[in-house]
Amino acid sequence: MELNSLYLDELREFFKERGEKAFRANQLFTFLHEKKRKDIENSNLSKNALEIIKCEDVVETKIFKIFDSKLDETKKILFKLWDNNLIEGVLMKYKHGYSQCISTQVGCRMGCDFCASTKDGLVRNLTAAEMLNQVYEIENTLNINVSNFILMGSGEPLDNFDEVIRFIKLLHDKKGHNTSYRNITISTCGIADRIIDLANINLPINLAISLHQTNDIDRSNLMPVNKKYNLSKLRDSLIYYSEKTNNRITFEYTLIKNQNDGIKNVEELKSFAKGIKCHINLIPLNPIDEFDEKRPNNQEINHFKNMLEEKGFNVTTRRELGKDISASCGQLRRSVEVN
Ligand code: SAH
Repeated sequence: MELNSLYLDELREFFKERGEKAFRANQLFTFLHEKKRKDIENSNLSKNALEIIKCEDVVETKIFKIFDSKLDETKKILFKLWDNNLIEGVLMKYKHGYSQCISTQVGCRMGCDFCASTKDGLVRNLTAAEMLNQVYEIENTLNINVSNFILMGSGEPLDNFDEVIRFIKLLHDKKGHNTSYRNITISTCGIADRIIDLANINLPINLAISLHQTNDIDRSNLMPVNKKYNLSKLRDSLIYYSEKTNNRITFEYTLIKNQNDGIKNVEELKSFAKGIKCHINLIPLNPIDEFDEKRPNNQEINHFKNMLEEKGFNVTTRRELGKDISASCGQLRRSVEVN
């Protein structure tokens, strides 16, 4: 059992079943999630409690390498998992604090044309502890506190639903990292059934949808997920989500020159978003070798932004951070350590 993926009440149950007092669970939980340590032999657990957990697992994730951008204060971090897979994460510094981009899977099976993370397919899901480790290792190593978390690293968060929810709840736990749900954003390519599940859990987190195209033919060409969950199914799930949670939804829209930046797209977007409280975040396409399309220039981006604003949308353009270290959206890849 992976002890650092367990909720406090599960840990209590674990100790109780083995004849130990439940408060041992609090000691262990605090050690793992507040002190962010793994050397449990040095915790204040009793000998007996240590004996009980000695055959269980406390999974580790190590920082393998940190790349510093020379253009801004962004860092790209390579994490090494227990099975030698390397995953990438990004740390961004803003006026209001640090924001960390978390990976949820090793690779990804969604197959979006423009995204590097999916080019080798899915290797495996990360556990909640492996997502928490990305946070704890960065905070311990750099001696910082991170306040915002975006689940936009490699992987599709809603394709690893249970572990992602577990991660979010553990990150929020007052006895652990104590992060406000409002400071956590899930980004999804649009797995409509899981959006409904998410609505039913009703956590006050932020939901971002990677939209990128505005009609089914073009979206299915770009994002295979659209063949299973077309725009109408996606829209239904978002209406349900909006009604259930009353949260505003963000539409992420990667701008690809002459592909999705015309007036037709603005009109289609208008009808797609009708009745959904939303905000649009434009992402100028970041280059990857496997996708031979161009990003619009700044003037074209602003033109598209203005057209959307004229239709009454609230629009922001995402800043490109960490350009020199390939840390921008869609550029994160998996690799494996070669000894
Ligand atoms: N799987 C999730 C989260 C990962 S990607 C999702 O699809 O939302 C985070 C964001 O970066 C998504 O909006 C994704 O579509 C976008 N993205 C991927 N490749 C990109 C690229 N080459 N340029 C710009 N944005 C990209």
